[in-house]
Amino acid sequence: MESKIIQDFMDEVKGRNGHEPEFLQAVQEVAETVIPYIITQDIYHGKNILMRMVEPERAITFRVPWVDDQGEIQVNRGYRIQMNSAIGPYKGGLRFHPTVNMSILKFLAFEQVFKNSLTTLPMGGGKGGADFDPKGKSDNEIMRFCQSFMSELHRHIGPNTDVPAGDIGVGGREIGYLYGQYKKLKNEFTGVLTGKGMSWGGSLIRPEATGYGNVYFAENMLKTINNSFEGKTVLVSGSGNVAQYATEKALQLGGKVVTMSDSSGYIFDEEGIDTEKLKFVMHLKNVKRARISEYVEQYPKAKFVAGATPWHEKCDIALPCATQNELDGDDAKMLLANGCICVSEGANMPSTPEAILAFHEAKILFAPGKASNAGGVATSGLEMSQNSLRLNWTREEVDAKLKQIMSNIHDKCIEFGRDDSGYIDYVKGANIAGFVKVADAMLAQGVV
Ligand code: NDP
Repeated sequence: MESKIIQDFMDEVKGRNGHEPEFLQAVQEVAETVIPYIITQDIYHGKNILMRMVEPERAITFRVPWVDDQGEIQVNRGYRIQMNSAIGPYKGGLRFHPTVNMSILKFLAFEQVFKNSLTTLPMGGGKGGADFDPKGKSDNEIMRFCQSFMSELHRHIGPNTDVPAGDIGVGGREIGYLYGQYKKLKNEFTGVLTGKGMSWGGSLIRPEATGYGNVYFAENMLKTINNSFEGKTVLVSGSGNVAQYATEKALQLGGKVVTMSDSSGYIFDEEGIDTEKLKFVMHLKNVKRARISEYVEQYPKAKFVAGATPWHEKCDIALPCATQNELDGDDAKMLLANGCICVSEGANMPSTPEAILAFHEAKILFAPGKASNAGGVATSGLEMSQNSLRLNWTREEVDAKLKQIMSNIHDKCIEFGRDDSGYIDYVKGANIAGFVKVADAMLAQGVV
């Protein structure tokens, strides 16, 4: 009966969104864990609540024309998905990447609703971006693109309506250009974006927050089995914002990080990527905007493996921090065979359903991104609070709040995810805990 209800629900969602595989994947995972819970809770019966949650409140697409350095006119497609505002203004990042489409952004926006709910801060869920490829573009091209993108987006956002942030391809530089254009168009200095620079409304620890938060979450998981990062071998994928700060925090806690990657392949450094080497990677990726393969030119004892992900290397802990579906069932089996005890997602939906099943069957610690990478948006929420209060908290204050929030999310996952054997299913825990708050707010607000 339970599986029939899930099947009927998914058939209806597929009927309406059949051409959106990533979105369907994200919904399926939630349906499988939340529908059995709904069945046990009378208050949700007859409200069609999950179907209301999978339909975006609003999905906007728009033309983004811009002029490149050769004087040619280029056109991209911009998006903003305003998924759910039951518990606060829409909140979620902007992604600039050639693969961006409705399916990717709807999956991200849907996940964001649950994630933001888990943070306990008053934030609804949204996501946006464009199919624009920032790679190889000059600063001026990036600026002109961001200005054109914001020339339309500004109509749909505001500090009490929708507050975007960064994601893949959108870092401090892009947030700066977007914010400048918003301010020019609206003639107001307000907290409409997060991830801003420190001298113009940003928050300390926001750049670090997603990566640090992921490691804090993993630390909480390890504590449940009386373990820690100390002396552990760690695989990190990606070399962008999340990967860099996950690596930094893992090092600070005594871990040895041996891999990082980008879309061209991964580097393996048996001696470990120490603080100095990480500094080199940060300069390489953030300033030179070059490829991770250059690491082995600087550190010749390391190897570069082209066109592959790091999951076949031996480790105790894996932190996937690059992109969706980067760790499949075969990768998961290899990680398990090599003795991996903990996987904590820094990216959104990096593990495929087959990989998650393998981790659950092996009963290792596995955290879904909507719980373990929520530190980024939580600290964005703290940036919004500081903007409203017109003050800046210290590094220590923000870091302490981030740590506390990650610990609270971990507790929530245990509350709803522990099974009779004592094993904690963090996917189930995060989905149900995230659902309850949003669903209850929606019920209270009527059919709108
Ligand atoms: P960045 O753009 O800073 O870095 C992305 C990294 O992932 C780069 O190393 C990039 O390599 C790699 N990557 C991107 N696409 C692919 C791909 N298709 N295949 C292989 N590698 C790829 O982004 P972030 O670090 O901000 O984001 C990483 C992940 O974390 C995303 O899933 C994002 O949604 C998630 N996230 C980010 C948050 C944040 O605060 N920034 C908050 C919560 C989640 P390359 O340079 O070659 O493209």
